[in-house]
Amino acid sequence: MRYVSTRGAAPVLNFSEAMMTGLARDGGLYVPETVPTLTHAQIAAMAGQSYEDIAFAVMWPFLGDTFTETEFRGLIATAYAGFGHAARAPLVQLGPNHHLLELFHGPTLAFKDFAMQLIGQMMQAALAKTGQRITIVGATSGDTGSAAMEAFRGLANVDLFILYPHGRVSDVQRRQMTTPVEANVHALAIDGDFDVAQARVKDMFNDHAFRDGVRLAGVNSINWARVLAQVVYYFAAATALGAPHRAVGFTVPTGNFGDIFAGYIARQMGLPIDRLVIATNHNDILHRALSTGDYVTDGVKPSISPSMDIQVSSNFERALFDAYGRDGAAITALMAELKAGGFHISQGAMQMLRATFASGRCSEAETSATITRTLAQTGELLCPHSAVGVKVAEEHLGAEPMVTLATAHPAKFPDAVKAATGIHPDLPPRMADLFDRPERMTRVPDDLGQLQALIRERIAR
Ligand SMILES: *Cc1c(COP(=O)(O)O)cnc(C)c1O
Repeated sequence: MRYVSTRGAAPVLNFSEAMMTGLARDGGLYVPETVPTLTHAQIAAMAGQSYEDIAFAVMWPFLGDTFTETEFRGLIATAYAGFGHAARAPLVQLGPNHHLLELFHGPTLAFKDFAMQLIGQMMQAALAKTGQRITIVGATSGDTGSAAMEAFRGLANVDLFILYPHGRVSDVQRRQMTTPVEANVHALAIDGDFDVAQARVKDMFNDHAFRDGVRLAGVNSINWARVLAQVVYYFAAATALGAPHRAVGFTVPTGNFGDIFAGYIARQMGLPIDRLVIATNHNDILHRALSTGDYVTDGVKPSISPSMDIQVSSNFERALFDAYGRDGAAITALMAELKAGGFHISQGAMQMLRATFASGRCSEAETSATITRTLAQTGELLCPHSAVGVKVAEEHLGAEPMVTLATAHPAKFPDAVKAATGIHPDLPPRMADLFDRPERMTRVPDDLGQLQALIRERIAR
């Protein structure tokens, strides 16, 4: 299995190299050269299997010779052992033909744990074979950072630096990043929003001297291994609801486009997904792009679903790459236009995107109202991101079962949930002492040179 860059000018890599590299050297994102497909019989066999067995069946064809079969099964088992639910990703019914896929039973209560726990195990296992060390730098709107801290703390061959927008993450998110005591993980609060944090991380990857000097690796959702780990729960949910014998739809609360792109890969692998619906909050660049063909940035507006407060959806580049017939030069040109504010998607590419994705937007008031109404109608307490998904899914219900991805636990965003319902959602007992642990973080300016100096100094210790 070989991986190519969406901009067509970076080395072709194997799985392990693509996982360690994150962003390609030409600024692009790695994608499989061809997506392996599973047969009808292979998919049918997943019904009733454990999450771990489905995970093995879905991911194994992508891995090449990175691990032996036994090693990989062991890494999967370790990754999901700390989840608070035996099903890992349980389904709950919300109404006729509408189901909620609860992806918040991992150690930091958001779906990011599914990929991050596994990538932590895979990276450590791959590095241990060679004795190498790497430096991971990631940007977060809140949940990636906490999931990464939890997955990488204490790992012997990894230093982890997480940049989060100062003052723009929830208290629970911040504390999950600032309370781990292990010396190999570092929380950095940057002056700016998520896009600023993400831009500085991209700058570090594009500075090849720095990149090679610290052996930089990435765990943002641009990392192919993360996307791959998320493909699994589409198979688990769909086969539980009757796939491949019937089609299923998915609605995905979307920010950086990683989670929904995993659904797109599941469909390419042969899973019968008839609708793949992008749900955005009022930061709706993706919904506007699918409606008008104009992908134009417009500043980030803070919302009550902050993990989706993103203006530039990094993984959308992967969908564009396919929509433009895998023409790396065309993607390079579009991304240059994006730096100047935006671009118009060609008619041919729009046809492919519209045939693949539907979209909807949910306002702040609609998000709150959906939390209130869903509690009254079903007893289910939604986090605001999941509520964005539920609202948009309800506009797209059809003959096939619809699955909305519940991306975080309500206790991660207690203020929005309390405002909508009057109920303060409690943290699960296993993390009830989060607010008693001491915090440790460093305030940093939006300055590439200073950030690089700090990282060099910390890893030299
Ligand atoms: C990260 C995140 C999202 C957005 O996922 P993307 O893969 O960036 O589209 C949605 N909800 C929650 C709770 C998240 O943490």
